[in-house]
Amino acid sequence: MKESIQQLKPYIPEEPISRLKERLGLTHLVRLSANENPYGTSPKVKKAVMEYVEAHDSSQYPDGYSTSLRKAIADFIKVPDESLVIGVGLDEVITLLSRAFLTAGDSIVISTPTFSEYALNGQLEGAKIKGVPCNAMTGATDLDGMVAAIDETTKLVWLCNPNNPTGTYVSVEAIRAFMKRVPRDILVLIDEAYIEFVTSCDRTSALPLLAEFSNIGIMRTFSKAYGLANYRVGYLVIGDDWVNYVQTIRLPYNLNSLSQVAAQVALEDQEFIRYVVTANAVARDSWEVCLNQWGLHYYKSEANFLFVEFNSPEEAKAVADIWLRAGYQVRVGLAPHWLRITIGQAKDCERMQQILGDYLNGR
Ligand SMILES: *Cc1c(COP(=O)(O)O)cnc(C)c1O
Repeated sequence: MKESIQQLKPYIPEEPISRLKERLGLTHLVRLSANENPYGTSPKVKKAVMEYVEAHDSSQYPDGYSTSLRKAIADFIKVPDESLVIGVGLDEVITLLSRAFLTAGDSIVISTPTFSEYALNGQLEGAKIKGVPCNAMTGATDLDGMVAAIDETTKLVWLCNPNNPTGTYVSVEAIRAFMKRVPRDILVLIDEAYIEFVTSCDRTSALPLLAEFSNIGIMRTFSKAYGLANYRVGYLVIGDDWVNYVQTIRLPYNLNSLSQVAAQVALEDQEFIRYVVTANAVARDSWEVCLNQWGLHYYKSEANFLFVEFNSPEEAKAVADIWLRAGYQVRVGLAPHWLRITIGQAKDCERMQQILGDYLNGR
């Protein structure tokens, strides 16, 4: 066995909803623990996939370059086709980047807490993980601390924006200033899995920085705002110096045709995205009003989830249990006192807020 994987623990995926319902004897369960889209998927996706299935058999390999989807994405974000690497979700993209650019003895710099896959994949390659804690009060990413953590062993810097699980957002201006301080041979990867949900400013994405810095990669996914988690489609935009290394180690037929069709049709339906983003922002506001009223500590979120602190690990667990028994599953275990709550549909937010309010009144 590879030495680097001996101490690793596998990512524990979500228990299938049907199994969890059966285990707990629930008739209704809303999963708000994985930041999936509570508004589903554009109805156009299902139609296009059905039509594709009717018109094709499955004996031939898919288009290994995802040519049509590639062109659609490239047009949409205004980048050259060749600068894209399309992966089986960002999960695959994170694995590819780590495999391509990390060897034993290297290090990566991350903010903590953040998405666990950067560290997991880094460890898999034998790299050292340098975690820089976020501001405990505001959840803000400590960009100065991240610059200070860079040394001669550092190969990759991961910046999740908005960050999972804190929900906090770093402005493009701040990222530009940060990039100016990072040596050009270190690759900075900006994970924009939740970028669609940012409503505090107009120019939210770091994509324009691709023209200013050669050592930047931007990552996007169809799993969150586009509601396509089951189809597994994510992509990386990266400059000429780096793109071929990642393409070379990608599996030749990584995306099946249904995923390619689904993602392309989902991308075309921007009306659905606008609807989802607006509904999410309204529901997010309703949570903030409640949390402020109750005096609970949380981070200002620009995403489709909120990270909320409780008095003790026991209290966090108690609240999660009460919600679960009422049919609402949230994410526990990311930090002892904290719960990460995916922002659901309005009626579910109201019900959850009522339950939490009652609990807080009675304690
Ligand atoms: C959900 C998530 C991903 C994974 O996305 P997939 O495209 O479904 O693999 C990547 N990064 C962050 C920060 C996420 O929260």
